[in-house]
Amino acid sequence: MAGGDFSLELVVLGAGPAWSDRRDAAGAAYLVQSKQTAILLDLGQGSFPRLIAAIEPSTLDAVVISHLHPDHFIDLVPLRHYLAYQLDEPRHVRVIAPAGLESRIDALHDRPGFTAETLDCEPFASGQATIGDLTVEARRVRHTADSHAIRVAPLDGPGLVYSGDCGRAADLLPLIRPGDTLLVEVSFGAGPVPSGSEHLDAPAISELVRSARPGRVLLTHLQMGLDRAAPVQIVREVFDGPVALVEPGDIIDLMEQG
Ligand SMILES: [Zn+2]
Ligand SMILES: [Zn+2]
Repeated sequence: MAGGDFSLELVVLGAGPAWSDRRDAAGAAYLVQSKQTAILLDLGQGSFPRLIAAIEPSTLDAVVISHLHPDHFIDLVPLRHYLAYQLDEPRHVRVIAPAGLESRIDALHDRPGFTAETLDCEPFASGQATIGDLTVEARRVRHTADSHAIRVAPLDGPGLVYSGDCGRAADLLPLIRPGDTLLVEVSFGAGPVPSGSEHLDAPAISELVRSARPGRVLLTHLQMGLDRAAPVQIVREVFDGPVALVEPGDIIDLMEQG
């Protein structure tokens, strides 16, 4: 176990979904930080101001983008501008993302090279990558053709598994280690998930946590207008540990067990 004064926290900057009538809503954006390392998972619509409020963005060790839906990456555009124009000198930030991210952002500006001026995009590595004092591991999940769930953890202890958007809960199983916090999309709430929609509902998550046994379950990305209490209740029926639906502004201590 990581001991001593090591700390690891999750700051929820935006919890989605892709569209919302909630005034405090922002696209997916989750900051995971130890004292030494800061890794941002996704940067969806409207989340950039919340990122700035939480951390000076050029100090991020990496941004990891789960997949190329705009509610997970579109605020890379303001991040790109901030890094190019706001600081004394332009600075670069490392971005780990599915192939094609750069050209999509370049196309928004109709300018090849626009993204690369400040964002250093690289593909997912196979296996674990070490970033500062954290490890990052990604696995393909069913959603788009190139969607990833991501685990961020200290070298030797429990961490966070983030589902991204995911159409098959079992795809998350290989990433979840004992004691991990599972941050998982529950787009369709109490369910059901309409056929052809590659997302999860609470019954699918219940089935997953029965076998995976994470230390805690955090639900996110709930679609507009759906009941907010029901999915939490459904997962609690099968899971003894803490279950919550996260909100922008939540700060969660990932070292705290259960
Ligand atoms: Zn998606
Ligand atoms: Zn999404």
